[in-house]
Amino acid sequence: MTNTDTEDVFATSMQVAELARAGSELVRITVNTREAAAAVPRIRERLAQLNVNVPLIGDFHFNGHKLLAEHPECAEALAKLRINPGNVGKGARKDEQFAQLIEIACRFDKPVRIGVNWGSLDQELLARIMDQNAQLAAPKDSVAIMREAMITSALESAKRAEELGLAADHIILSCKVSGVQDLIAIYTELADKCTYPLHLGLTEAGMGSKGIVASAAAMGVLLHQGIGDTIRVSLTPEPNGDRTREVIVAQELLQTMGLRAFTPLVAACPGCGRTTSTVFQELAQDIQNYVRERMPEWRSHRIGVENMTLAVMGCVVNGPGESKHANIGISLPGTGEAPVAPVYIDGDRVKTLRGDNISMEFRDIIDGYVARSYPLRVG
Ligand code: SF4
Repeated sequence: MTNTDTEDVFATSMQVAELARAGSELVRITVNTREAAAAVPRIRERLAQLNVNVPLIGDFHFNGHKLLAEHPECAEALAKLRINPGNVGKGARKDEQFAQLIEIACRFDKPVRIGVNWGSLDQELLARIMDQNAQLAAPKDSVAIMREAMITSALESAKRAEELGLAADHIILSCKVSGVQDLIAIYTELADKCTYPLHLGLTEAGMGSKGIVASAAAMGVLLHQGIGDTIRVSLTPEPNGDRTREVIVAQELLQTMGLRAFTPLVAACPGCGRTTSTVFQELAQDIQNYVRERMPEWRSHRIGVENMTLAVMGCVVNGPGESKHANIGISLPGTGEAPVAPVYIDGDRVKTLRGDNISMEFRDIIDGYVARSYPLRVG
């Protein structure tokens, strides 16, 4: 998801393009004002000029019914609408405004993600479920009630959308919370109760390693159970941090679980007392960066290159063994070892590198392997 002001066509287009180039397959943008709604088709046009065709999802809260009614060209330019049932309206207005949103989605043949978020849970629905709970002989605790309210909000909204004419295959559900165990419990139950595609994501996951670990722990469990059709890793960026970080983390999560392959990943050992220099850490980082840099071009010209595996190891203990498991591996010398670095390709030792130019020579070896092993795309 972008964090630019959508009214700023240039900044938003640039960030969408950046996210798409990093590998994002869907990009959500906030549509919160008339100016933002008017900007959406211009963003789409600007992206076309940049040759970026990534689908755009409009994120609507509170005034989506009005914005879409006043700016049909916004609905037209979007690939999907995201509606939060907790923020559609209050009282009698809620049903009316929800119906307006669904009518627009039907008219423009757009899928809708019904995105429940525990930070903006439908309060009337929550009150209703709490009242029902109070009548029970053994009332459930507040955590169970919160989970039930989220699932009910998603399923009732989806049912209503279908009654209003939206096809079931145009509905996607999400129920985002910030607790790992809550997310697992809610989606496990949601997957049992419906067949709609599910969008996964831990909301307010946080910054840095905390956000990454929490997202990976929660979504890893669900993905392992076969639950989830799209994912987002929501990371709070460092000030002026790179927004593409969340795309890379999402890709790495799917790739390390063996579900999708995006970019060759470098296996590297953690280092220990046998490595007193930083040579192998620097090489591992340099090679991972190099591969990421080359990947957009490789991806468009070479079939299957994303499945290539690489290893950069610190010493003779596990170096040769791990390197042999990779398509290309290098085992650098640990402390006290001869200053040579054997290179393995598909399990065979093929070369020994030495001296100060190991990184450049290893890059050449990777380029040669890609050219030999992954056929050119035709057409
Ligand atoms: S491969 Fe060598 S340097 Fe790397 S962690 Fe193992 S023993 Fe330490």
